Amino acid sequence: MQAGDAEYDNARKVWNGMIDRKPALIAQCTNADDISECVKFARNNNMIVSVRGGGHNAAGNAVCDDGLMIDLSKMKEIKVDPANKTATAEPGVILREFDAATMQHGLATTMGTVSETGIAGLTLGGGIGYLMTKFGTASDNLISAEMITANGDQIKVDKGNHTDLYWAIRGGGGNFGIVSKFEYRLHNFGPNIVGGMILYPMDQAKPVMQNYRDYARKAPDELMAYTGFIVTPDGLPVTAIIPVWVGDVKEADKHLSPLRGFGAPLADMVTEMPYVQMQALLDAAAPSGIRRYWKSGYFTELSDELLDIVLKHVATRPSLLSPVLFFHIRGAAARTATEVTAFGNRGDQWDSDIISQWIDAADDEKNISWTRNFWKEIEPLTNGVYVNHLGTDDDPRVANAYGANFERLKAIKKKYDPDNFFRMNNNIRPS
Ligand SMILES: Cc1cc2nc3c(=O)[nH]c(=O)nc-3n(C[C@H](O)[C@H](O)[C@H](O)COP(=O)(O)OP(=O)(O)OC[C@H]3O[C@@H](n4cnc5c(N)ncnc54)[C@H](O)[C@@H]3O)c2cc1C
Repeated sequence: MQAGDAEYDNARKVWNGMIDRKPALIAQCTNADDISECVKFARNNNMIVSVRGGGHNAAGNAVCDDGLMIDLSKMKEIKVDPANKTATAEPGVILREFDAATMQHGLATTMGTVSETGIAGLTLGGGIGYLMTKFGTASDNLISAEMITANGDQIKVDKGNHTDLYWAIRGGGGNFGIVSKFEYRLHNFGPNIVGGMILYPMDQAKPVMQNYRDYARKAPDELMAYTGFIVTPDGLPVTAIIPVWVGDVKEADKHLSPLRGFGAPLADMVTEMPYVQMQALLDAAAPSGIRRYWKSGYFTELSDELLDIVLKHVATRPSLLSPVLFFHIRGAAARTATEVTAFGNRGDQWDSDIISQWIDAADDEKNISWTRNFWKEIEPLTNGVYVNHLGTDDDPRVANAYGANFERLKAIKKKYDPDNFFRMNNNIRPS
């Protein structure tokens, strides 16, 4: 489709409402052959391509100006093989569809925490979520992928085929080709977990965060706890602890009590619930289509110095829609050695995100400058970044996402995509 077609404007919309790009053509693919045709067509016509999975990436790289947008959002097939504990899924699948399909069989694998996110971008960039502490990242559970290369060839990638590519696509993003099918390892899990939110007034923010950070690392692997500064639906800024016990539900109370028993919460909504419900808990805070500016980095410590800076800026946020979140990466996801997959910068740490969100274009400047000023003060305390949380003007930071793995990624990019045909992404340029 192209400009003027009824569905064109809808098809070029993505999660970040700041992205208003206009591809010359949008191709809605339904299978690998379609994707292959698109790649060959774009090459023959010297067009830039962008690839859309779930369309959830903050940087908006799923959409290009003037080129060919290869839209995979209609590719929704999911097949679960309960006997072998595996699932295949096409790249238009979003998290809620994937989790629902596997949980029907009492199986799950790590996915992210907002259910509208696409499995494609999430897995290719690494994929962190509540289950990572037990099962590793989403990409750690990727058994194989069917891919279309920069020449339009269709290949299978796994531990016996294109092993360099198999390493690279587990964290290296969409730099190496287009995945038309993902195959995942699944694990017995659920259907229920114990989790939810504990909310505190902002005047308790610092001691609550100190108690959280001191406990979060001492607890067993099964305790995952994210945290951050959000605003309740009726407009009250609060400190939120978001714990999930990913072990036996009967064991949950004793391990959650150091968090639940602390201070004087406004509300404690932690309870036993279906895993799929927990996976949608943060959905309302991330509605599709509003305006966004995002900055993110890893912190190995939630030091008092960091907390003081964060609280100072949270108190002056121009939009109450803007959360500041800390996703704790630990357990199996943290222990895997850096060189095992391209998802680098492993270690027990917090992925912290300033997610500025607002409605009105007239407020762009004040929200963006608030975020930049905030970021300028905390950036010196960071230690790398999660590639999937890079924002619209973060291209120079891509190397920081890979640490020691970056040179190897550049060499694999040179082998599979020497012309940098796939460059609408957090781009790794060929070495
Ligand atoms: C509200 C919100 C919450 C999030 N929470 C988490 C979380 O809990 N954990 C986590 O790990 N991440 C999280 N993320 C980040 C998320 O993983 C990335 O934004 C991811 O890129 C989304 O994937 P997508 O398919 O929806 O993205 P898209 O915007 O469609 O694509 C993103 C990039 O991936 C590439 N790509 C997409 N599909 C393919 C394909 N089939 N083959 C090759 N390349 C492809 C595209 O080139 C593009 O550059 C969150 C993002 C948001 C906005």
